[in-house]
Amino acid sequence: MKPFLSIAHISHSYGKTPVLKDCGFEVGEGELVALLGESGSGKTTMLRLIAGFERPSNGSIILQNRTLCSPTEFIVPERRNVGMVFQDYALFPHLSVGENIAIGQKKNASTSVEAWLELVGLGGLADRKTTQISGGQQQRVAIARALAAEPQVLLLDEPFSNIDESLKFAFRSELRDLLLKVGVTTIFVTHDTKDALAISDKIVVMKDGEIRQSGTPQAIYDRPHDTYVAGLLGPFNTVLSFYNGANIIRAEHVQIHPDGEHRGTVLRSIYQGGHYLVEVRTSDQNILMMRSDTHPAVQAEIQFTYAEHNVRTVTNR
Ligand code: ADP
Repeated sequence: MKPFLSIAHISHSYGKTPVLKDCGFEVGEGELVALLGESGSGKTTMLRLIAGFERPSNGSIILQNRTLCSPTEFIVPERRNVGMVFQDYALFPHLSVGENIAIGQKKNASTSVEAWLELVGLGGLADRKTTQISGGQQQRVAIARALAAEPQVLLLDEPFSNIDESLKFAFRSELRDLLLKVGVTTIFVTHDTKDALAISDKIVVMKDGEIRQSGTPQAIYDRPHDTYVAGLLGPFNTVLSFYNGANIIRAEHVQIHPDGEHRGTVLRSIYQGGHYLVEVRTSDQNILMMRSDTHPAVQAEIQFTYAEHNVRTVTNR
């Protein structure tokens, strides 16, 4: 099947500094895709290229049958039918909540401002000033404003960065439910692996302007291509040995067991709430992380076991 949005061979430089190198990924209709990577990896630049705020030095972006940009074509942002929610929301402070959303609305829109407010859980707040609502509510106004334009693709720049850790769990689900209800194809940027794992259909991992891997959260977690992706997706990652690549195993796949065939010394036990993450120096001098329900003492000699089929061989980069 043809992808809904296709990004191919995108390269981009600011001045002489290359920041994206031959990047490509595809997005299916209605999918929720996370661009995941550390600060400076090029995530926001990729969003800005899709929105049309920058023109790439090479490559193409195709939305359904329309070429948004290619070496010979360039559609301006306001004609792309792509909506973007900025990290600082960029609401108009002199307008009310309702007026902010009305500005986004399409001509002859079928959904009213009040209906958008209801949908994002802000029913009855149309007359408030945007300065008189909380940060979380401002973000919902920004999302409603972008959705009111009925974009084919919605772009969200770090939607979770201003949300308290304690509220994130509920907020992620609410955002996912809202986007599913609207059915809009969405790409969001995050540096937080938990956000990406929790709600996306697909994760695109970026590092130093390159795409290291893209796939479902489960595939990326379970079958990382390289040590960087493996480490980014979970701190429970362990290098067992090096040769051409590295052998890794997730901490949850290693069990402390009195009859375990491997031996080691506990270096550290870190309480994680509900279980411990235990750092062990193995008898062959590797460092292994493993999950444990009990609290092994530092310096304790332990035995442990793991199934060979849970060991992954990845490229060392
Ligand atoms: P991320 O969103 O992953 O943090 P960005 O796309 O913002 O990454 O930035 C990628 C790289 O491009 C960084 O090294 C950043 O400093 C640089 N950069 C971003 N915007 C500009 C700009 N307008 N001019 C020059 N360099 C920029």
